[in-house]
Parts: sequence; structure tokens; C-alpha cells
Amino acid sequence: MKLTGRTALVTGASRGIGRAIAIGLAEEGADVAVNYVSNEVAAQEVFDQIAKLGRRGVLARADVGDYPDTYRMAQQVLKEFGHLDILVNNAGVNDDKTFVKMDHAAWRKVLSVNLDGVFNCTKVFVEQMIGRQFGRVVNITSVIGQIGNFGQANYAASKAGVAAFTKSLAKELAGKGITVNAIAPGFVETDMVMAIPEKVQARLLQQIPLGRFARAEEVARAVVYIVSADGDYITGAELSINGGLLM
Ligand code: NAP
Repeated sequence: MKLTGRTALVTGASRGIGRAIAIGLAEEGADVAVNYVSNEVAAQEVFDQIAKLGRRGVLARADVGDYPDTYRMAQQVLKEFGHLDILVNNAGVNDDKTFVKMDHAAWRKVLSVNLDGVFNCTKVFVEQMIGRQFGRVVNITSVIGQIGNFGQANYAASKAGVAAFTKSLAKELAGKGITVNAIAPGFVETDMVMAIPEKVQARLLQQIPLGRFARAEEVARAVVYIVSADGDYITGAELSINGGLLM
């Protein structure tokens, strides 16, 4: 077990990639707080899985785009765990429209969760990481932030913003025992990708050299690698897990 004694929070852990990351961290021995915003039943199911693995869990509801709500959640998690070693900023949404049809609300909604959410969550936990001279922050970006995409100007901008934030923070915090990295998945079999029309999915598959979408567990394994001692010398990286879609 690579993470015995560690405490972690995964945002957006009720479904998809976040769920796989939360369970992956618990399988390696970490206690894990499960953040979600509305899907309590799904979050409870992840919490139960963590408990079954013999780890402590916390159900940590908060809208990460809302700073006061995120601050409240952090106090709850720190009260339960005492401190936080690992923060995985995974919560994300999309609201796809061509730019001409994209209104300000669609822009703000995606930037609020995907970019402000990373600021908010990191802000509320970083001081206690600095105090303990240890922390592991992993931000889930996307291949779309690297290459852009038709109908995703808001989503691509949010993810490119998170990638740049990651590198800046990695430089600021390297001397304080904290590593900050990003993981950029390609297309992963989750609700987000399954919502893409089948014809478009087929076109996407043709562009992926490995010929399939990723499984959420394949992203989770990379998170475990980066936050465990195996990843101690990695900071400021953006690790691509995209089946060769971008190389
Ligand atoms: P998903 O299946 O749609 O799940 C989204 C998760 O985020 C849910 O747990 C949801 O909670 C939570 N969430 C949404 N808004 C939130 C908010 N305001 N505050 C807190 N939590 C919130 O998404 P996914 O496909 O696993 O994606 C996870 C991350 O990977 C996202 O950052 C996404 O951009 C990124 N990513 C995904 C893919 C892909 O192909 N799927 C590719 C590259 C990057 P509720 O259940 O309560 O709604």
C-alpha cells in the first residue's frame, strides 16, 4: 500500500473519473473525502466503498465554484481528518456551444466550476499544507485545453487556465514540500463522453491511435502514481493520458 496514513480530498468524486480516483486512493490506504455537489446517492455509494476498504471517508458536499461553500467544506474535512495531504481538483462541467451561440452564462458556468473551483479548493487547503511542509495537488485538465475543440471555447479555456495555474503554483510551492501537477485525459468513458452523439463518438475513435476511450481507472492509477512516493520528484508536469490522440 502506497498511501497508508495519508488523507485526501477528491472533488467531483461521486461519479466518473473522480469516483475512480477516490476509490483508487482508498485502495492504496488513504482516507478519502468525497466531494460532490448534488448527487448524494452516488456520493454515498463511493463513501460506502471507501468504508468497505477499511478507510475513513467523509461526505463533503460543496459547490466548488462558490468560495464560501468551499471554505465551509474545508473546515468540515479538516475537522474530520485533522489535516489534508492530497488534493485532487477533479470536479468539472461542460456546456458546449459554438462561440456565436455561447452566452455569458455558459461561459461563466464552465469557468466558475472548472477554473474558479481549482482556485477555491487549493486556496482553502494550501496554508495547512505549507504549515506541514507536505502536500500533493493534482489538477485534472484535458486534451481539449491543449488542442482546443469545436464548440468548447469555454471548456478549453478553463482547462488551459488550470494547466498554467498548475505550473505557476508548482514553482511557488516547490520549496515548501508541495508538488503540483496536472493530468490531461483524452476521452474517458464517463457520463460526459457518453453524452456525445454516437456518430461523433465514432469519428473521435478514428482519431485515437489506441482505438478506444480511456477507462476512468486508467486516470486514477496515474493520480496514485503522482501522489505516492513514486512521484516525489514530479512537479509542474501535465501528464497526458489520451491513447495517442495528441503526441
Ligand atoms: P462526470 O462524470 O460528469 O462527473 C462530474 C463530477 O463533478 C460529479 O461528481 C459532479 O458531482 C461533480 N461536480 C460538477 N459540478 C460540481 C460543482 N460545482 N462542485 C462540486 N462538484 C461538482 O465528469 P468526468 O467525465 O468524470 O470528468 C471529471 C473531470 O475530468 C472533469 O474536470 C473533466 O473536465 C475532466 N475530463 C474528463 C474527460 C472525459 O472524457 N470524461 C476528459 C478529459 C478531462 P454530482 O454527481 O453531485 O453532480
